[in-house]
Amino acid sequence: EVVISARSVSKIFGSGADKVTALDAVSVDIFQNEFFTMLGPSGCGKTTLLRLIGGFEEASSGKILLEGNELNDLPPYKRPINTVFQSYALFPHLTVRQNITFGLEMQGIDRAKANHRADEMLELVRLAQYGDRVPSQLSGGQQQRIALARALAPAPKVLLLDEPLSALDLKLRKEMQVELKRLQTETGITFVFVTHDQEEALAMSDRIAVMQFGKIQQIGAPREIYDEPTDRFVADFIGDSNFLPGNLVAAANGKHALTLANQHVIELPSVRSGQKTGDVTISIRPERLGLVAENLADQTHLMGSVKSVIYFGTDTTYEIDLGNDQTVKVRTQNGTGAMDDFGRGERVGVHVPADAIR
Ligand code: ADP
Ligand code: MG
Repeated sequence: EVVISARSVSKIFGSGADKVTALDAVSVDIFQNEFFTMLGPSGCGKTTLLRLIGGFEEASSGKILLEGNELNDLPPYKRPINTVFQSYALFPHLTVRQNITFGLEMQGIDRAKANHRADEMLELVRLAQYGDRVPSQLSGGQQQRIALARALAPAPKVLLLDEPLSALDLKLRKEMQVELKRLQTETGITFVFVTHDQEEALAMSDRIAVMQFGKIQQIGAPREIYDEPTDRFVADFIGDSNFLPGNLVAAANGKHALTLANQHVIELPSVRSGQKTGDVTISIRPERLGLVAENLADQTHLMGSVKSVIYFGTDTTYEIDLGNDQTVKVRTQNGTGAMDDFGRGERVGVHVPADAIR
């Protein structure tokens, strides 16, 4: 069931020479009980879209719907939507419990009930013993959880989260990713999450909208976005990709032949319908490529030499020089016993599986 719909929403700031199109005819449906992420580089319009959904900003054109009803004129406090910002914005002079009950009491909920609800929420974020402290007595991660408890307390239909983890250090951020996912699953509330961090988006989301220049470039489940990026921007922004020039010709048997560096030809059993032939750019994930020692390579391999080796513990990334100013990154998993170590300058064969080529 659709909770939030954006229908051809545009937002233009300023005019004349200062005109900025922050959102350009964005349409998206966000479902009930979904962890939905808007992902894209800085300035692509993520915050603007979130602020429009929250009611902090008005669309220049288009509509935002909540469960099918137009929201355009409803002020933020009348929407069953709450927001968690990057800065936790807790009241420093109120206790943790009071920070949570404040909004509830403003809504006319009596104190005893509000206190009860606050304690439930503190339980939910696993800070039950901290109700009587003030925010300055808590760590950054704990303050973030209080901000979440406060935002979840009125049981909104939708929780908007604008880069809520970006102020935390890496370890804490990873912990909070798990925590946020758990809170979303346990409460069943629709989360609309904004991040510029593709790993975070892949790890947490049911679906991701990848944005660029005020437009949504692709919407899909993490696997779909990673495995079947619709264009070069998405393939480049999400994860690592190699881009190589190639030449594609249709063969008589309905298959296609792709020529890569060194006149290396790969038979592609199927290509996307409408795929243009001739000069193309292919993308391929580094972990889909394999390496073999030169003496084990045959004509199915791209030959090259190891330009650099970066050891990451769980995996190793090799940069392979194919000649003609072309290099590819190859990522091999360590600890499988299957892969040899290759040193700088060594000649190697790169295995390019046909089904990994986009
Ligand atoms: P993101 O959150 O993806 O980094 P924003 O939604 O904040 O991007 O901004 C999108 C574009 O709109 C940017 O070019 C930004 O400078 C511009 N913008 C955002 N808010 C305003 C504003 N209040 N006035 C003028 N320009 C704005
Ligand atoms: Mg932003």
